[in-house]
Amino acid sequence: MIITKTRKVVVVGAGFVGSSYAFSLVNQGIAEEIVIIDVNTSKAEGDAMDLNHGMPFASPAKIYSGNYSECHNADVVVIAAGANQKPGETRLDLVEKNAKIFKEIVNKVMASGFNGIFLIATNPVDVLSYATWKFSGLPAKRVIGSGTILDTARFRYMLGNYYGVDTRNVHAYILGEHGDSEFPAWSHAYIGSQSLADFSKTRNIDPVQAEKDLQGIFENVRDAAYHIIERKGATYYGIAMGLARLTKAILNNESSILTISTLLRGEYETEDVYIGVPAIIDKHGVQSILEFNLPPDELEKFNKSAKVLKENIRIIQKHFS
Ligand code: NAD
Repeated sequence: MIITKTRKVVVVGAGFVGSSYAFSLVNQGIAEEIVIIDVNTSKAEGDAMDLNHGMPFASPAKIYSGNYSECHNADVVVIAAGANQKPGETRLDLVEKNAKIFKEIVNKVMASGFNGIFLIATNPVDVLSYATWKFSGLPAKRVIGSGTILDTARFRYMLGNYYGVDTRNVHAYILGEHGDSEFPAWSHAYIGSQSLADFSKTRNIDPVQAEKDLQGIFENVRDAAYHIIERKGATYYGIAMGLARLTKAILNNESSILTISTLLRGEYETEDVYIGVPAIIDKHGVQSILEFNLPPDELEKFNKSAKVLKENIRIIQKHFS
């Protein structure tokens, strides 16, 4: 009998996002070993105890709080540590605070001998994914930001709702920054195999009305985090499920297309920035980037978004040496 290596995931940051992610992993039976690390060691310990008490209802898994030495044989290290957005704060407002925290965390993970894949959730996620790539020295394909995975999920959910179709049959993407400069790739949005314009006709929706409604849907997607933070202080279930989906794509070597933040090297006429694009994810991390043939107006939005991110990378560049 061949016994394969245990699927081991380390979660750094057991706040709203990190603990919801650990809960998703346990509920979906994605990992066999889950280690929780937080500066607030009591919170990490408490979460491990609480999750272990659900074991009779889940697939067997070893769950415990630990320290960075546990990263040495981890398949995936997920970072959800750091400050989150306060009401009215943009994701980019967090950049300085979280870059300093990241330098310390990534150095500790790498000192353990870690040789797996980083998944980054902390905001501003594109900038901190770039920073993690720099701090870690790992190949870019093994440092993945959650990017617009959540924005794309929100978009698919809202479009599915609008057209009365299962969201899983909506193929549409939010590209660019996970933040205010993101945009929808309308040119590549389909329901089944029909364009939104064609699908609107089957639903007898007036084209002018559809255009107005779709713009409203995008604005709700873009501003969703603000709307949720106003109501309950933080967003975490959606991103936790997105991170669990990404983890599954890696551990099961799925070659799934997911919108994540990765390093561009000329794709979309852009380079040296981490930004949200659709990519094929497998056990090696980012296997390849899907480069949509965007029309000029969408390409312009992409380039503007990349510019915003590059300006923010510049702010934290001093930490890279
Ligand atoms: P939170 O404040 O609830 O949790 C953060 C945790 O990080 C806390 O438990 C804290 O003790 C821990 N921490 C802080 N410094 C640390 C360090 N040096 N080492 C280890 N642990 C440390 O915040 P949250 O709501 O869980 O959000 C976490 C991050 O995720 C934020 O940056 C937030 O903006 C981001 N987020 C991202 C997305 C996305 O789509 N990528 C969605 C929602 C939230």
